[in-house]
Amino acid sequence: METKDVIYELRTKKGFSQEELAEKIFVTRQAVSRWETGETVPNTETLKLLSRLFNVSINTLLGSPRELICQCCGMPLEDCNISKETDGNFNEEYCKWCYVDGEYTLDIWKRYVEIGGKEKLEEFKRKLIDEINALGVEGMPKVEKLNALVGGYINLEYCLPNGKIVKFLDDNATYLGNQLECEFGGDRCFGIAANMEFILICTYEENGENPELVIYKKR
Ligand SMILES: [Zn+2]
Repeated sequence: METKDVIYELRTKKGFSQEELAEKIFVTRQAVSRWETGETVPNTETLKLLSRLFNVSINTLLGSPRELICQCCGMPLEDCNISKETDGNFNEEYCKWCYVDGEYTLDIWKRYVEIGGKEKLEEFKRKLIDEINALGVEGMPKVEKLNALVGGYINLEYCLPNGKIVKFLDDNATYLGNQLECEFGGDRCFGIAANMEFILICTYEENGENPELVIYKKR
């Protein structure tokens, strides 16, 4: 859908006339009319006002040109799960679980923002990706990206050669990781979980069934 259709639809759904909408966002009725005929597009400031008024993201107002994903956990973003800033504007970079009240909720992010911000985290991720790829695990495709994952979701139980059942992760901590399909096919996937101290690589079947540890390596 194009911006003109999006605006028309949102306006009529709310039952506003062009005049009424214009008043609410401090523009002229003619401006609204020009948006709806596609002659012009609202400027950035007006898009923000429209976003607040209709409770939809700017991406939606622009006809969804971008495929939004949470930069923290990798979840696809839609208007219902996009985070907001404390002033009520959408923050279209993160989901509403990873970014709450103007702060990152996942510990690894908090730690990095404290140390040096987002760029530092990206730098760390790249380094970690290089280290993981350098391990040369047979059948595992090259890692391209890492997402933040909550330990509780990926804390699998492994059976060691001595018969002991162990878990390696902390349910409440956050790790950087990913899931990759095996290059040789089959129904086993590779799982990666890492943090500043270690890299863990395992394989498992659907839903984490029958996990096997491949590598646990201190960094
Ligand atoms: Zn997220």
